[in-house]
Amino acid sequence: MQNQKIYHESKKYMPGGVNSPVRAFTGLNIAPPALVRGEGAYVYDIEGKRYADYVGAWGPMILGHCDEDVVKAIEDTANSSIAFGAVTELELRFAKLICDTTGIDMIRFVNSGTEATMSAVRLARGYTGRDKIVKFSGCYHGHYDGFLVLAGSGIMTQGIAGSAGVPEDHVKNTIIGEYNNVEQIRHIFEKFGEQIACVIVEPIAGNMGVVPAKREFLMEIRKLCDAYGSLLIFDEVITGFRVAYRGAREIYEIEPELVTYGKIIGGGLPCGAYGGKREIMSILSPVGPVYQAGTMSGNPVIMAAGYATVKKIYDNRDKFYTYLESLGQKLEDGLKKVFFEKGIKVVINRVGSMFTIFFNDNDKVENYEQAKASNVNIYRHFAEQMILKGNYISPSQFEALFLSIKHTDYEVEKFIEDVYQIF
Ligand SMILES: *Cc1c(COP(=O)(O)O)cnc(C)c1O
Repeated sequence: MQNQKIYHESKKYMPGGVNSPVRAFTGLNIAPPALVRGEGAYVYDIEGKRYADYVGAWGPMILGHCDEDVVKAIEDTANSSIAFGAVTELELRFAKLICDTTGIDMIRFVNSGTEATMSAVRLARGYTGRDKIVKFSGCYHGHYDGFLVLAGSGIMTQGIAGSAGVPEDHVKNTIIGEYNNVEQIRHIFEKFGEQIACVIVEPIAGNMGVVPAKREFLMEIRKLCDAYGSLLIFDEVITGFRVAYRGAREIYEIEPELVTYGKIIGGGLPCGAYGGKREIMSILSPVGPVYQAGTMSGNPVIMAAGYATVKKIYDNRDKFYTYLESLGQKLEDGLKKVFFEKGIKVVINRVGSMFTIFFNDNDKVENYEQAKASNVNIYRHFAEQMILKGNYISPSQFEALFLSIKHTDYEVEKFIEDVYQIF
């Protein structure tokens, strides 16, 4: 009852009872569990109920909840430095680690993924002196006005505002393309190429559910950007340090000019970052003319948590990613078997430790149209039942689920068994 009560009362004080919409359990018949504690692969709600966690704070918790090294780094740092708004060695140490190990020249830390992507786009516009940007439907890059765009009626038309409060003027320079459509991105460049500052893309989409880019799609974008002098931005806010240490860049072996990070980079605290080639990053204020700032950016406690997280992943990268892949494979195989036996049509998209079960009649889900064809009513029933059985999963069909290094065969087998019970 406490979960119900908290959610009910929260609605009086915070719109929808939440501080970010997807937590609201829209369309589900259960209240969101009010969480009080996390440990390893598990979270606990205020009623004392335990859940194996497949949300992972929407991505950051790849080490599991309350990893002892991360907690220690936060405690130790907070004892001497909560905030300065000044230069610290902590931020230098973290910047060096990321640049040296991921192969970017320079980085700037910000406070969220949204800030990282909108700043990267501003930088690309400043660098190229062009206004237009290209994004793909189904890709989410945060809530900056210029990204809140829906595809217009005709193919290749400019987008229309995807939220109330976004002036059409703010999206008139956003061109919307279809994910994985090689032919269409070629047409977009033929028509607008000289005006395009950048293409921003999730190289493995995680925000329409997991939908990996086809290799030839990313290669074509890379080629077109080179030909037209546009910059390529990989939004690796989810995939950075998740699908491989160097993110999707490592998997596809394609290098963008700019990359954005978030989620894992803060170890669970609010942090984002964007980085790339020195020549481009060097036009950022205070060195150059592109303005971007943040009172809390590079906050010591956050830099310590991020460093502890990323360093631990880096030091154990072979072991961790091999483990996550084998556990992910086991889960995928088990789920496919169960759904087949039960005669329920699903598409399971998975890259390493991120996956989505689409309740979908298509054979494949490769773009937003196909993702949207999923049966959200079945998904909601599924989510509700899985949560009641102690598996904390996303209430929405169009999200990635995550494994952490603290998940084991035990949790995965229970997940599969619970799916079997539900259908
Ligand atoms: C989560 C996410 C963002 C936005 O990050 P916030 O920290 O929520 O602002 C941007 N891009 C991608 C790919 C994301 O998954």
